[in-house]
Amino acid sequence: MRAMRKPLTPWILATLLLTALGGLSALLGGQTLSLAAGRPPPAAAANALGQAPAADAVQVLYVGFTPPQGVAQNIVKAIDQAQSEVLVQAYGFTHNAIAQAVVRAHRRGLTVHVLLDQKSESTNRYVIGLFQEAGVSMRMDGAHAIAHNKVIVIDAQVLVTGSFNFTNSAETRNAENVLILRGEALAKTYRDNWQQHWAHARL
Ligand SMILES: [Zn+2]
Repeated sequence: MRAMRKPLTPWILATLLLTALGGLSALLGGQTLSLAAGRPPPAAAANALGQAPAADAVQVLYVGFTPPQGVAQNIVKAIDQAQSEVLVQAYGFTHNAIAQAVVRAHRRGLTVHVLLDQKSESTNRYVIGLFQEAGVSMRMDGAHAIAHNKVIVIDAQVLVTGSFNFTNSAETRNAENVLILRGEALAKTYRDNWQQHWAHARL
């Protein structure tokens, strides 16, 4: 099914580019990319966009694009390094290795909740079955035309997001991007939004 793609959260990208990081370096396909630091956007501008400000220092842990393949293994690594909590928000979720990492986090005793798009229940059925079998807490969000977020908030500190659905197609066939970021205020903003969706989703 073709989905309408919204532009990638430009305020976050602007925050990334303009805030606090004096000359950040990010791994980009094996190359090092240096970005000049600038001034953070004024808080009033952030509020005018109706977004919670999240302009604390953000550390870029990973920047990845498909092709080539290799994005999924970095998402797996981030989940495997979780210590207390993994909150997932997914539209498409068919990728076995990412799902297994979520199950491992659950089995390690972490707080793990998975929120999926209700209308994608049939295409996500493999992963849904896996989570049901493992006893992973899960809800379906049917409150929107599509619940199109692709977000993992780890330990209220680390954020995985981008265009990348947690699917085999995203890894092997599509052109996608993923950012893995560490920043407490940024993670809190996403965690708060995740909780709003969780609250109106069904079991
Ligand atoms: Zn929702």
